[in-house]
Amino acid sequence: MNEIETILCKVLGCDRSGLYLGAGRKALSGRQLDRLGEILKKRAGGEPLQYLVGDTEFMGLKIKVSPGVLIPRPETEVLVEAALGQMALLQRPLDVLDIGTGSGNIAIAMAAGDREGRYNIFAVDISDTCLKKARSNSKLNGVADKITFLKSDIFSCFKGLKKTFDCIISNPPYIAEKDYDGLPSDVKNEPSSALLAADEGFYFYKEIEKGARRYLAPSGMIFLEIGDGQADGIKNIFCDKHIWNKISIVKDYNDRDRVAIVYRQSKV
Ligand code: GLN
Repeated sequence: MNEIETILCKVLGCDRSGLYLGAGRKALSGRQLDRLGEILKKRAGGEPLQYLVGDTEFMGLKIKVSPGVLIPRPETEVLVEAALGQMALLQRPLDVLDIGTGSGNIAIAMAAGDREGRYNIFAVDISDTCLKKARSNSKLNGVADKITFLKSDIFSCFKGLKKTFDCIISNPPYIAEKDYDGLPSDVKNEPSSALLAADEGFYFYKEIEKGARRYLAPSGMIFLEIGDGQADGIKNIFCDKHIWNKISIVKDYNDRDRVAIVYRQSKV
């Protein structure tokens, strides 16, 4: 659907076919016109379409979003597909950790893709707004019983616990401060805390590397979404050969480096 179809479906409370065959053929009521005017005004002011209609689609799943929660991107599907593919090679129950879950999209898509019911998923975020949205999205998609949502600054909530994970997955903030001003105005309406990272965009990768030494199980894997041009920087962060076995980089549909898969040595 194009933008205006999406907006009209929202205002009329119908789907795309209804727009052309049903509700869409009748004149708009006064209330509907007011609502349409309100949405178009906000949209013209740069508010993202997905916030105005309240949801988006991620890997075929409906994910609700609102201001304060990052809107899931199609590129992130490459991250989840890589993780589902690699994890399928490990034939045992698996503990999965999604760091910075936001709307919950990654954890929910992992749960939905776990056909054999082998994953025990933990999803953390520092933002209460995100955790609330993520929990409700997990219910909406029927996977609430497979995911434990916890408030945490990266690994902080596991401090002192014996827990380890077979898979750590994250789409952390990775935009460098110097690149933030150049972002489209739509994107600047999303929470900057979900986009911006110190250390030229590498802060969270460095923190994840440090924490994963402790929390990633032997033979475990880390799946990270990365920005264009960050592959070499990531390889430098995961350079300790005693701990990290290898790194592979996966490209997205636009042929840009998008995902780093880091494999842990089997004995550490
Ligand atoms: N995990 C969420 C996503 O991939 C949020 C990521 C973030 O806030 N940086 O969309």
